[in-house]
Amino acid sequence: MTLPTSSPTTTTTSLYQLLVTGKLGFFFVLTISLTIVQLLILPSYKVDQQTNQVETACLAYPLTSLLTTYLPSSFLTIYDPTTDHAFNLMALGALSGYYIMSTFCTLLDLFAPVSWKTQEAKSYFTIREWCQAIVVSSLNILLCSWLVTLPTWWMHKHGTLRLFAESSSSSSSLTQFTAFWDWKVELPKQLFHIVFIDIWFFTTHRFIHVSRPINVYKWIHKFHHTFTAPCAPACMYAHPLEFCIGNVMGIILGPCITNCHPLTMCGWLTLSLVSTSSTHSGYWMLGAEGHDHHHEHFDYNYGTNVLMDRLFGTKFIGSEKHKRVVARKARKRREKVEEVGAKKSEVEKEEVEVVVETKSTRRRRIGLNDLNKK
Ligand SMILES: [Zn+2]
Ligand SMILES: [Zn+2]
Repeated sequence: MTLPTSSPTTTTTSLYQLLVTGKLGFFFVLTISLTIVQLLILPSYKVDQQTNQVETACLAYPLTSLLTTYLPSSFLTIYDPTTDHAFNLMALGALSGYYIMSTFCTLLDLFAPVSWKTQEAKSYFTIREWCQAIVVSSLNILLCSWLVTLPTWWMHKHGTLRLFAESSSSSSSLTQFTAFWDWKVELPKQLFHIVFIDIWFFTTHRFIHVSRPINVYKWIHKFHHTFTAPCAPACMYAHPLEFCIGNVMGIILGPCITNCHPLTMCGWLTLSLVSTSSTHSGYWMLGAEGHDHHHEHFDYNYGTNVLMDRLFGTKFIGSEKHKRVVARKARKRREKVEEVGAKKSEVEKEEVEVVVETKSTRRRRIGLNDLNKK
């Protein structure tokens, strides 16, 4: 990627540098997530104050009635689609986050310049790979996720893991759904979710990279590493075991522990899926560089770039390998410049020879003309 030459006096250059180096990645991910919650999820989800059920006139109603009709009765004893609003909001957040970001990033893949990608031309899928990524991710999120979300929801309703609030309250009740959203209470809980997923994801991810004494990597995680330069739709391209334990459980255990407001749960699930799609998108501006380094160089960046990789010395930037990669790229760039320079001087030399030749020919001609005059 060509970065602009530094010019500290111009704020536009600094802003551009922040954009292209992905330093504003989390800000973009957060803005996209809040926009999805505010403009899409909340307007489409309304609850009847009298019955505590999803209103028949809202957009979410067909989905909840579909689930009520087709879910096995054993599922319905744990989760009631008409009254478990926190669960519904989390599901809507996760689905919107994944499908909106996949569509957005696929459109970028079609029309944006390759220099926007951290691995440039390598980071594009064939139509077959794209379909493969969408199908596997959809199977995981629509079918496999139930294996974890149902037991966790049961624990949440019974307050089994709850640490930060009274165990008698249930997040599915209308009282909690309509309770005032207090940022002073909810913000620390959201920060806890962010730190918790980093610890969970780092630990489980590190474990599935192990190849001895049991080759866990080969049996489970190699599947996700099929793509060394992933795209957003492939963020859930994973073995079901990895997806359920490493990804879904780490995301939903946080709200289960904090017993946060249903709106915080919705925001957290949307943020998680927008974030995982972005980190697999390959785009600098969406903060994909860190996880792209993991897919490209394998032994670095196991966590979500918050705390754990710094603590355990597995951060790619600043590592010996990173220094070698930077040196190799600089050497290649130098060689290319020298090659271009050599070609240029060769062309210039040829041009000079042509000019000299033309002049001497003219001189010879002039000499001949002089002789003719004589
Ligand atoms: Zn990995
Ligand atoms: Zn990945």
